[in-house]
Amino acid sequence: MLNSRSELMSNTSDVVIVGAGPAGVSAAISAANRKLSVILIDTKPKEKIGDKVCGEALSKKTSLKISKMLEIEPPKEEEINAKIGTMVVRTRKPEINIQLPAIGFMINRHIYGQRLLKEALSRKVQLVDNCKVIKPLVENNKVVGVIAKTKNNEEREFRAKITIDASGCRAVIRTNLPEDFSPSLYKKLTKNDYASCFREIIKLKEDHDLHQKIVLQYERNIPEPGYIWFFGDGKQKLNCGTGFQKVGQNEQLSVKQVYFNAIRKYYPEYEVIDGRGDVVPVQPPLWNAVAPGLIIAGDAAFHADPLTAEGHGPALLAGTIAGKVAKLAIEKGEYDVDNLWQYNVEVIKEFGSDNSLYKILVIVLKRIGAEDLEFLIRRGVIKQSDLSVQGLSKKESIFSLLARVIRCFPKFYLLILMKKALSATKQIKKLCSQFPETYKEYENWKRKIELIYKRFI
Ligand SMILES: Cc1cc2nc3c(=O)[nH]c(=O)nc-3n(C[C@H](O)[C@H](O)[C@H](O)COP(=O)(O)OP(=O)(O)OC[C@H]3O[C@@H](n4cnc5c(N)ncnc54)[C@H](O)[C@@H]3O)c2cc1C
Repeated sequence: MLNSRSELMSNTSDVVIVGAGPAGVSAAISAANRKLSVILIDTKPKEKIGDKVCGEALSKKTSLKISKMLEIEPPKEEEINAKIGTMVVRTRKPEINIQLPAIGFMINRHIYGQRLLKEALSRKVQLVDNCKVIKPLVENNKVVGVIAKTKNNEEREFRAKITIDASGCRAVIRTNLPEDFSPSLYKKLTKNDYASCFREIIKLKEDHDLHQKIVLQYERNIPEPGYIWFFGDGKQKLNCGTGFQKVGQNEQLSVKQVYFNAIRKYYPEYEVIDGRGDVVPVQPPLWNAVAPGLIIAGDAAFHADPLTAEGHGPALLAGTIAGKVAKLAIEKGEYDVDNLWQYNVEVIKEFGSDNSLYKILVIVLKRIGAEDLEFLIRRGVIKQSDLSVQGLSKKESIFSLLARVIRCFPKFYLLILMKKALSATKQIKKLCSQFPETYKEYENWKRKIELIYKRFI
């Protein structure tokens, strides 16, 4: 039996944060650096915080940026399993591929996550571990905190001026808000919003040839986006996995089985160090991720790249911005959408615009499948530069277009698709650069961007 309302223990702070993953801890450090009092709640016991099913690739640029913004040390030796230099998009014939620069680390999520937690605790952040948040506390049309259950099954209220939902893909606060609360906020989580994944960390008998490489290996029998990943994680170690949306004809497919069928082809024998499933968002970012008294960060706001699932860096960035915007609102004593809007503006600038473009690339890859991807790369119709944000939004000369037309023979339908995709990405980039500075113009802006996706799909 739960305690009655009057028996609830109460805790109050400037900011209460749900989830001590990258979004939550960075928000905690960012807010504490600004002298706010912070309560950080996680279902996990303290020593398990940071441990997460992940491909573990983290961009060096983002991690250095975060370290500067949060005034903490960048990833250290013991937190880095291996360095990364290149991303390889491989077709069914691995020799037909595209290589892209991807400077970063294979990071040990658990060790790095524990260090970030330590950084937060050293700044007097109050951690409440082993505690599951159940729902938001909403009063007078404002989120004023959360209701949580401790490991002893006691119900507790945590009250704050600002609540940050950093609870990961399942977004416990965002998805448990009353339906009529802040209508412009998306409050659902449908099967279309996330991919189910299975990932293994494996050890081979001999050294692999993926030193400093992360590989997206496209295969015919993997549902869209259609690849199994192999990330070099040390001399003999690999981080491998796959994931897809369990919708439509893929609803009944087992992700684990699809993964095992694919990996056997490349690595028939290995020792398993860790094997687990999880989910990751696959939608463009929530362009509006604030509501009165509430900021949503990381996977809870669909901040991961919908193509590669790169969400660790975006979550760290989003949390850092959330802490900063919380401080500005608290200084003013105003917690409405207008006063939190700055968060959306900064998220769009930092990574939201890029991730919005990548959603178009996901749709393209979904349409063309593994076979046509091989054709396009083999013929040089798709090049390395096309897969970058610059490539996705550039203006093409008539000569390079003509060259593509010739190389695309006889599959001209692919060229038409690519032209449409380029037009859509250009429009999205332009719209993102015009993201409204205030909430007032948002609904109109949102209609325009949604129309571009709708037309393209
Ligand atoms: C298979 C897979 C591979 C991936 N590969 C990569 C990769 O290579 N590179 C990359 O950058 N990203 C990758 N990602 C994405 C990345 O892991 C996430 O984007 C990132 O962890 C998001 O951080 P977050 O803080 O938003 O959420 P999370 O890391 O999920 O943290 C959420 C925290 O909230 C806690 N929590 C949840 N519910 C509650 C509740 N009700 N009450 C209290 N606490 C709660 C959880 O215990 C957890 O600690 C991958 C994801 C998956 C699933």
